[in-house]
Amino acid sequence: MSLQRRALLAIASNLPLGLAAPRLARAQAGAGRVVIIGGGFGGASAARFARDHFPALEVTLIERNRTFTTCPYGNLVLAGRRDIASITFGYGRLAARGVRVVHQDVVAVDAAAKRVRLADGAEVPYDRLVMSPGIDLRWGAIEGYDEAASARMPHGWIPSLQPITLLRRQLEEMPDGGTFVMTIPGNPFRCPPGPYERISMVAEYLKRAKPRSRIIALDAKDGFSKQPLFVDAWAELYPGIIQWRGASNDGRVMRVDPAAMEVETEFGEKVKGSVVNVIPPQMAARIARDAGLADRSGWCPVKPATFESAQVEGIWVLGDATIAAPMPKSGFAASSQGKHAIACIAASLAGRAPPPATFFNTCYSHVAPDYGISVVGVYRASTTALTEVEGSGGISPRNATMTSERRAQHRQLEALYADGWYESITNEMFG
Ligand SMILES: Cc1cc2nc3c(=O)[nH]c(=O)nc-3n(C[C@H](O)[C@H](O)[C@H](O)COP(=O)(O)OP(=O)(O)OC[C@H]3O[C@@H](n4cnc5c(N)ncnc54)[C@H](O)[C@@H]3O)c2cc1C
Repeated sequence: MSLQRRALLAIASNLPLGLAAPRLARAQAGAGRVVIIGGGFGGASAARFARDHFPALEVTLIERNRTFTTCPYGNLVLAGRRDIASITFGYGRLAARGVRVVHQDVVAVDAAAKRVRLADGAEVPYDRLVMSPGIDLRWGAIEGYDEAASARMPHGWIPSLQPITLLRRQLEEMPDGGTFVMTIPGNPFRCPPGPYERISMVAEYLKRAKPRSRIIALDAKDGFSKQPLFVDAWAELYPGIIQWRGASNDGRVMRVDPAAMEVETEFGEKVKGSVVNVIPPQMAARIARDAGLADRSGWCPVKPATFESAQVEGIWVLGDATIAAPMPKSGFAASSQGKHAIACIAASLAGRAPPPATFFNTCYSHVAPDYGISVVGVYRASTTALTEVEGSGGISPRNATMTSERRAQHRQLEALYADGWYESITNEMFG
């Protein structure tokens, strides 16, 4: 591993994430009311960061749910390697730190009057608004796949909408010799490596508990994140279990039939599963679309240097809801964007220029409990574009570059780094 990559991984996994945050001229920060919608990776990180670094800001976090279950490590719950309680967090500590936490659904944003309306009719005024509401699923984009169908063919992609335990239960009830079918959308979508980590962890469970079973993964695209590493690992750890088909190999699923537990591909092949996991196409969450932040793509364009909305002034948008390529839709990216947005807001309230924008991302994936791989990226923004810093980051080395002993150590180490990253980021959000 190069020194630069090792240093980036150390930042990602071992250091308090605040150290990876933008440098701040704290004394120059202004005062004001900051309202944050969404207490997930972007919103909770932003709230904590604002509280810790900008005491003059009055911070209100509005989140509809009383607890937050993370998507990261959900695939380990699916494989029976973690329990759901270990990835579920409350907001008590954020509140104890001085964040005003309101558990309500935001139903409307009035950008002209600078206030948001809650489901109980209350109105909350703001000077600056941050929105990190995550994603919605595009029901109907795959014919026959609606909310009712998802009870039989779970997505397991938004924990507050559908706990991963539903898919886990179906997997446990699946007979040995059954087929686990997964459908994967085209880009962009939440967590580019997520489906492939899921394939891996389901394979890990099947190999242990139902060794005659198989996985068929039908993908709407021809390539995916960390593909060579996943493919190497599948051949090494799960030979004969996983069949992955891309778009050119008729992998795009057009319709589903939940009663028959079948999915149908573009060219009419019907594939039956004992368990069918449909990850449908996605878009920015409804409140962002209703507030006029999304464009025709269904995602929210932002000014890359600040993450202020490109559509509505005075609203900062973070995380999966945004168009922020080449940054992926990841929790780490949302957190990094959240800290920068808060620094920009503090600067704007003080009448100053925003600080320079540098963002970090590391996406770890488990291929087995003690086998991790990762991709690292550092990004800079100009007024018009986000770009990956040339030569920064990189991905884990491929199998062929190491002896088997060295490879085992390396993959084990990355699985440990992943644990460190998870503890660090969730502690920063909820600790
Ligand atoms: C299987 C899987 C594995 C993943 N693994 C990783 C990983 O290893 N590393 C990583 O970095 N990322 C990972 N991700 C991606 C990560 O979960 C997302 O990128 C991250 O959650 C995005 O953060 P966010 O703040 O945009 O949205 P979220 O974290 O989804 O937060 C949005 C919050 O807004 C709330 N909300 C929405 N609308 C309203 C409203 N109107 N009123 C009040 N509250 C509202 C929601 O209840 C929710 O709590 C994974 C995702 C999946 C599916």
